[in-house]
Amino acid sequence: MVHFVGAGPGDPELITKKGARLLSEADVVIYAGSLVNPKLLELCKREAKIYNSATMTLDEVLNVMYDAEEKNLTTVRLHTGDPAIYGAIAEQMDALNEKQIVYDVIPGVSSFLGAAASLKKEYTLPGISQTVIITRQGGRTPVPESESLKKLAAHNSTMCIFLSVHKIDEVVNELIEGGYKKETPVAVVEKATWEDEQILWGNLENIAEKVHNAKIAKTAMIVVSPCLDATYEPSRLYAPDFSHMFREAKV
Ligand code: SAH
Repeated sequence: MVHFVGAGPGDPELITKKGARLLSEADVVIYAGSLVNPKLLELCKREAKIYNSATMTLDEVLNVMYDAEEKNLTTVRLHTGDPAIYGAIAEQMDALNEKQIVYDVIPGVSSFLGAAASLKKEYTLPGISQTVIITRQGGRTPVPESESLKKLAAHNSTMCIFLSVHKIDEVVNELIEGGYKKETPVAVVEKATWEDEQILWGNLENIAEKVHNAKIAKTAMIVVSPCLDATYEPSRLYAPDFSHMFREAKV
């Protein structure tokens, strides 16, 4: 059997209990070496065979899985963050389906949430934004035109932009052209939840320069959000005059 496991954003304690258990039981581990914290591999059995997918093609990854399956071994495919977000697991699952190999998926803490924790911010403030857009700038992997940053910017919502910090100039230009004010707050979190994480605070007008000065070119989340610096209405849920299923109004 193959387990696709979300490793979390970096801090090795942010993997789920189930993910950690499966990792400690696996005979074969294929991990995304460019982003997964290698400290997690300390959980593996001493005799486990460990492969770094950063240097492998899809076919090579699949062949390791097929081979393990033939020998009745258990494989963990360890992806950074949550496997469902830019994890390229669809093609692996399709291939396993074709071979009728059984697999499951163990979710993980995605880096956009690791970044929120590092920033100590809420992405959804009443009256400010109630929507989080997860997206990226197009690159070698194209993004459908209807989802361009420029189009998405029209919502003025919270936006978490993956895989794009090396194109920060293009990103801010598109966002401003698309409708965010230049003063919209932006935070860039490099290696959120890792020991050497770095946070830059700014706005759409000045963040690109800060990113260049800090020489951040990968493993970073761009968080654009009016919520990062907003005066907001406290949540209705905890208001004293608000009744709901579990609590009568107290005034
Ligand atoms: N599946 C992963 C994303 C993989 S794509 C997840 O759920 O987080 C890789 C991109 O994720 C990076 O380019 C970067 O934008 C982001 N990323 C991954 N780990 C990160 C971290 N610790 N801090 C900030 N961004 C991170």
